[in-house]
Amino acid sequence: TNRTFGALGITVFEAMSRLAAAHGAVNLGQGFPEGLEPRAVVEAAAAALLEGPHQYPPMRGVPELRRAVAENGARFFGIEADWESEVLVTSGATEALAAAFFALLNPGDEAIILEPAYDSYAPIIERAGATVVPVRLVAPDWTLPKAALEAAVTAHTRLIVVNTPMNPTGKVFSAEELAWLAAFLVRHDLVAVCDEVYEHLTFDGTRHASLFGLPSARARTVRIGSAGKSFSMTGWKVGYITAERALIEPIARAHQYLTFTTPPALQRAVAAGLALDAAYFDGLRGALQERRDFLAAGLAEAGFDVLPCSGAYFLNIDISAFDAAGDDQAFAERLVREAGVATIPLSAFYRDKATTGLVRLCFAKHRATLEEAIARLGRWR
Ligand code: PMP
Ligand code: GLN
Repeated sequence: TNRTFGALGITVFEAMSRLAAAHGAVNLGQGFPEGLEPRAVVEAAAAALLEGPHQYPPMRGVPELRRAVAENGARFFGIEADWESEVLVTSGATEALAAAFFALLNPGDEAIILEPAYDSYAPIIERAGATVVPVRLVAPDWTLPKAALEAAVTAHTRLIVVNTPMNPTGKVFSAEELAWLAAFLVRHDLVAVCDEVYEHLTFDGTRHASLFGLPSARARTVRIGSAGKSFSMTGWKVGYITAERALIEPIARAHQYLTFTTPPALQRAVAAGLALDAAYFDGLRGALQERRDFLAAGLAEAGFDVLPCSGAYFLNIDISAFDAAGDDQAFAERLVREAGVATIPLSAFYRDKATTGLVRLCFAKHRATLEEAIARLGRWR
């Protein structure tokens, strides 16, 4: 063919992981944890695999997992949902997001995303024929830009994507911000697609809350979770959506055409994981907080200016002391080549890719990995 294909780009995670491998760099770029997989959940998967069944499970997910999603949300976040009519299992949060965008957006619609934004939102929103309207949060506080949000709404606005705890900022939305967003949804007749994959990963006593738990926002919220994050196994790709019927029905129809189902043994194992007692979830939070603190202290020691982080897997550093222009992309590439440490430039999370003066590092790693990265950065500077 003489046609060229390729409206979609290569993700920054793919590009940086390749560059890291080529240079033998310590990879604090792509966000994935090391050594936190809960043994009980892995064993539940092994048992379920041996036992079967192996054929297509129910399109909406196996009942025990849908029940467990509802139970976990009620137990930890005070969210009541009917497992039969309000929960849908997907192949990771990535599929949940795609199914939601394909189901809820039509050509000509507009969708607001908050930048810096996780990279999978905009390409799929556009492939659904809609227009992405980015609204920026400003470092280092990343507070909700209320006036800019009001100004961004038009007659075509259909939804807003809300990611809390937020990748890449580490921000956890406050109760006041969520209440404001709930009123914003009602005022403009919008839906919120809430990416809550880091719901269990919050620090310093901060707790996650969902728009779905606010009565005025419940009918307008699509809440998305992921076993990849709650059980530290990002390769598993088991996600789940909680939403009222009027939203989950069209999303389930999109899910039929994307993947239809998700491996049944993994679904059953994730059901066992979600039923674990509070000690497991507290332990995960504690382990990650310790890793965050270790990396933050090492980075500060090495002379980097570290931004605050209340949730998820990431710390951001201000590079202006090292690169006057704040060219994060060039800086991240230099760090791989010269220091042997891979990071993610924050500009990757913006539509315009303009330099931000910030790079993101994943702290969810073994102590030895973090020690090596800190030592390399210390030698480099
Ligand atoms: N949303 C955010 C904010 C993420 O960081 C990730 C993890 N990469 C995902 C969605 C995708 O999750 P999953 O691996 O379950 O598809
Ligand atoms: N969510 C991970 C991150 O932000 C990456 C996922 C991916 O590689 N697509 O680093």
